[in-house]
This record gives sequence, structure tokens and C-alpha cells, in this order.
Amino acid sequence: MRKLSMALLVGVTLVGCGGDPEVENQEIVSNLIEAGFPANDILVADGAVYVGRDAHVTLEASREMLQAPEASAEQYRTTNLVGTGVTKICINPTADFNSYTNLSQGLDQAITNYNERGLRITFARGPASGCTANITAQTTTGTGGQAGFPSGGLPYGNFFIGTGLNAYSVDVNEHVITHEVGHAIGFRHSDYYNRSISCGAGGDEGDAGVGAILIPGTPDTAVVGGSIMNSCFRATETGEWTASDITALTYLYPSNAVASCSSYNFLSYRGQTGTQIPCSCASGSAGAVWGTDLYTDDSNACVAAVHAGAIPSTGGNVIVTIQPAQSSYTGTTRNGVTTSSYGAWGGSFSVTSQTPVAACSSYNFVSYRGQNGTQVRCSCPTVSAGAVWGTDLYTDDSNVCTAAVHAGVITSSGGTVRVTLQPGQSAYTGTTRNGITTSSYGAWGGSYTLSL
Ligand SMILES: [Zn+2]
Repeated sequence: MRKLSMALLVGVTLVGCGGDPEVENQEIVSNLIEAGFPANDILVADGAVYVGRDAHVTLEASREMLQAPEASAEQYRTTNLVGTGVTKICINPTADFNSYTNLSQGLDQAITNYNERGLRITFARGPASGCTANITAQTTTGTGGQAGFPSGGLPYGNFFIGTGLNAYSVDVNEHVITHEVGHAIGFRHSDYYNRSISCGAGGDEGDAGVGAILIPGTPDTAVVGGSIMNSCFRATETGEWTASDITALTYLYPSNAVASCSSYNFLSYRGQTGTQIPCSCASGSAGAVWGTDLYTDDSNACVAAVHAGAIPSTGGNVIVTIQPAQSSYTGTTRNGVTTSSYGAWGGSFSVTSQTPVAACSSYNFVSYRGQNGTQVRCSCPTVSAGAVWGTDLYTDDSNVCTAAVHAGVITSSGGTVRVTLQPGQSAYTGTTRNGITTSSYGAWGGSYTLSL
């Protein structure tokens, strides 16, 4: 049996900025969650907030449910950030968005703001090639903006800019768009604990179900003009980062400037068990490797990293951890790489991603509908039975790891796969391949393909 859950919680993943009724509802929902109401008990309908499906809650009532606000104020991030599988975020404006000159120019300048910081993620105005994630820039009414927070290692898939903002300077548009993109990659409001600091009114947004984790090195007070991530903006905004914004960005998404793994001789680290060496791999396509998970210390670290699922064969940054001698090493095939077995060898290492790749089972790909072309790398530690519909194109509620075995991308011993989101299909055909039998299905609103 399959069912789709209704998207009841309109206000929880969207955060409002600038001031409109959506913002008020967002605060109410945030307050309710912080006060302990389960998220699935809160309903936003017809512009009002209800708990238990029928109890309308006013803003004042929701504020009264809260404890005293937190005492310190720094810059804050959500629990979830954009994963290392995302290296290039393309921001795709709608035709309506493009028709507003200042919104359109503000978008270009916002993209430049991010790219000037040399972060591990670059941004491009779409349509563009090589995107590993996409955000749609849309319009709404009013003069504020709205966005959501990352999930599943991806940025939030769209943001909304009020077309009233076109009457403001390009700099103000740059500011608001930079701010909304900030939310999409995991920034909370700098004054989330007391919106009145920048808005003149408003309370505590609370945890909002996404966390509010302070970012080390940012200042301990939120002030007007102190951050692009303040809740409300002024007509005098310059659109430029503040010093603490740059600290926060660099902390969360540092550049990947480390030495090549091939420049290291890991045999020379023998005995230094536990030492971690960050290094970069331009690719991981050719080189001898012995072992599985624990590799002999004369193995090619980048090829081992692909085998371990730390990076794709196109390369990336890894951490090599020095490990003790082993009495034997077992060769396997994973992620397109076959390693060799060997007997006793005097030193070994393990290889991990700088941010571990999340398990495929932690993703709900149905929630990424419409982000066609977006790619997510995720891991299948072991492949157990799961329901799958289709062949090569699978319904987006299919078990990814089982589908990956069916597709021949991995074996039942697991590995890391790349999921590419695809449009809904009018029919899905079941087949038997690689020991896995999939089912047929009729029209289904979203699908994906799989590759290494
Ligand atoms: Zn905001």
C-alpha cells in the first residue's frame, strides 16, 4: 500500500522575512513547536493556524505558551546543512522573476556575493550546466521574502521575493535575495530569538523544528545592520556581507584548498594510528588498492576513497586516517572499483568523506519533486529487501538501495550511489535483474534514475 502524506505544515519549512501575514503564521507555528506541540498536530489553513485540526491559535496566545527567550545572540544555523555532494547550486529564476529588473539584477549580485567568498559551493544563475542542486527563484506579493531550510543534504528548492521589492534599490534586492539564499543553505535569522531587534516588533522564532545552533566566532549580540541574516531589512541596505556574515559563511562552507593525496607517502606515517590527513583527489580512476574499508598503506588513497564511497570517481576531498597493521586484507568490488586481497602488511589506512555521505534510507525523495536533474549522493551500507517500481526509471518512493542493485549500479554488498531526480512517468515497467524483481505501476508523479 502506498499513500502520499498531505502537506499540512505550510508554515514550518518556510521562513518569512520582512513582514507579512505568512510571517505571523510562521511565528505562531514556531511558537507552538517550541511550546511542545507535535508538528503533525499543527495545521495552517485559510491563512490561520490550528492545533488539533480545529483550535485556532492567535499570535498572542502562541507567545504566551513560550518560556523566556534565550539569553545570547549570535549567528545561527539549522541542524541540517548542504552536503558535500553539492558543489554547484544553480538558481533558476522564473520568467516572471526575470521581468522585474531590480529583482533580476539583485539575483546576479547575490550570486556574486556567494562566489566572492571562495566557498566549497559555487553558485550560478540558471539555466546552467553542471548543477548539483537547484533553487527556483519565484515571485510573490508584498515586499518581503520567503525561503526554507536544507534537508537531505540539499538546499531548499525555492525562494519567493515580493514584487514590491522592485521599487527598492538593486542593493536592497541584492540584500533580500542573499538573505533568502542564506536560509536555503542553512542560516537562521541572527535575531531569531527576538525579531524585534531588526523588525521593531515580534518575538522568538524558537527552534522552528530545524534547530538554532550558534556559529563559533560570530558576535554575541544581534544589532540593526549587523547581519544580512537579520529578520527584517531597511531601505538603506547595501546588499553586502558584514564581517560576521563572512565568518559564519566561511565556517560552514570552507573552501577545499588542501594538498593532493598523491603528494603523501602514507607508509611514512606508520605507528601514528588515528592521525587524520585531509587531502584532495582530482580523480579516483586508476591505481592499485588492497583491502576493504581498511586498505594497505601503499594503496592508492584516491582509488580506495572511491571504493569506500567517500568520493565519486570524479574526485573530491577526503580524510585519510592512519590505522594499524592487519594480518590480512580482503578484496571486494564496490562503487565500480575492484580491490585485491593480501596477507599480513605492516600498516593500513581508512578513507572517509570530509562530511560523511548520508544513508539513502534517510532521504524522502518524494519531497524533492520538481527538482528534476538534481543529484543526491547517498550510501547503501547493506542492501535489504525493499519495494521498487519500474526499471531504470523508478518511482520516487521506491527503495533506492534495492533499485540500485536492480539497475546494476551496486551489488548487494552495498556502495554509494547517485540519485538523479526525474519527472513523473505515465507508466513504470517491472522486470527481474540482478536477482531483484521490481513491480509495474501506472502513472506516478515523480521518478529517479541511478548511477555511480
Ligand atoms: Zn529571513
